Amino acid sequence: MTNELGIAAHLAESIEKSSWIRKMFEEGARLKSIHGTEKVFDFSLGNPNLSAPELFECALLDAVRRKEPGAHAYMPNAGYLSVRKSVADRISMERGVDISANEIIMTCGAAGGLNVVLKTLLNPGDEVLVPAPFFVEYSFYAQNHGGVLKTVPTRPDFTLDIEAISAAINEKTRVFLINSPNNPTGQVYSKESVSELGRLLKKKSDEIGKIIYLLSDEPYFKLVYDDLEVPDIFSAYDNGIITTSYSKELSIPGERIGYIAINPRASFKDLLSEGMILSNRILGFVNAPALMQRAVGAIQGAAVDVGAYAKKRDILCRGLSDAGYEFSIPSGAFYVFPKSPVENEIEFVKALQKELILTVPGSGFGCPGHFRIAYCVSDDVIERSLPGFKRAMSMY
Ligand code: PLP
Repeated sequence: MTNELGIAAHLAESIEKSSWIRKMFEEGARLKSIHGTEKVFDFSLGNPNLSAPELFECALLDAVRRKEPGAHAYMPNAGYLSVRKSVADRISMERGVDISANEIIMTCGAAGGLNVVLKTLLNPGDEVLVPAPFFVEYSFYAQNHGGVLKTVPTRPDFTLDIEAISAAINEKTRVFLINSPNNPTGQVYSKESVSELGRLLKKKSDEIGKIIYLLSDEPYFKLVYDDLEVPDIFSAYDNGIITTSYSKELSIPGERIGYIAINPRASFKDLLSEGMILSNRILGFVNAPALMQRAVGAIQGAAVDVGAYAKKRDILCRGLSDAGYEFSIPSGAFYVFPKSPVENEIEFVKALQKELILTVPGSGFGCPGHFRIAYCVSDDVIERSLPGFKRAMSMY
């Protein structure tokens, strides 16, 4: 017998911390084995249920058939130049910024991109400040690179609270991390609030005497409803970096393809790019998957039918509202984050489980008292779940 854990202590601790999603996953598997998959309403995972657009399938087949020499070889760690150029052209057109292939690095999804950026920017003990609630993996990503994730509250409707952010920034803050459209709230930050944030970060960077980077994690950029536009962070702040992916907009999260875009006006843009290219290599990603780069490079601008998600949102929100739930209507992504009718939302999540409805407690996103419903499921599942949502609420 030994006292040793068998794995690194910090990782053993992380396994414990990440247990909410895991617990939900295990509970889902248990309920499905007892009641059958059809009877369980699984809203726990942000795994898109829409199929990838046909255009993507065609581009992928085309990329396979073309049989270019060296098609499966190592490549520059930033990715194919031609693909980075297509991405840059698309961003320039969509956002009205003049960005070039030099500022684009192809990555293994947004998650890969976030790790590359944080490895490039963080010194030990540097803080990454994020508005809560937030995507739970951020704390692990910061920790991966010697950083510490700190949170700052949002307003009750989950919009940015600039005063609170101003008070939370200190000399250790290296990165301010936003995610809009947001997981878990579905909130899209307004242009005014993003501009105000840009002005604040500039002022604070000047005061502290070092750059605070604005890192904008945008995998839901194209999933917005009601003709809303996600404000461009590059026009709001020079030292801005975007991480994003095709996981949600093309419904291909298993393919692990995304990119980083660096603001062409960033103070150290060449050094940032050089650092990120090295990070992509030495983190072991080496480069983003070759075949996927060629496929997405050929169909820039394509996306799943957002109207299908808007319909799901409407069915769910109408049902929740009729049942007496309190929530902000999501403007993007595919999540609703209602208030729990009891302070301890875990109790309520358990009450929903009795109705075979799986959701995730807000504690897992740094925001107790709420719970997340991921509505990237079939319309039929949403419709059939509504009586269960109503019964659970009526008990309170
Ligand atoms: N960022 C946010 C806010 C997410 O919700 C997700 C996935 O759900 C990711 C990043 C990771 O996305 P990817 O699959 O592109 O790595």
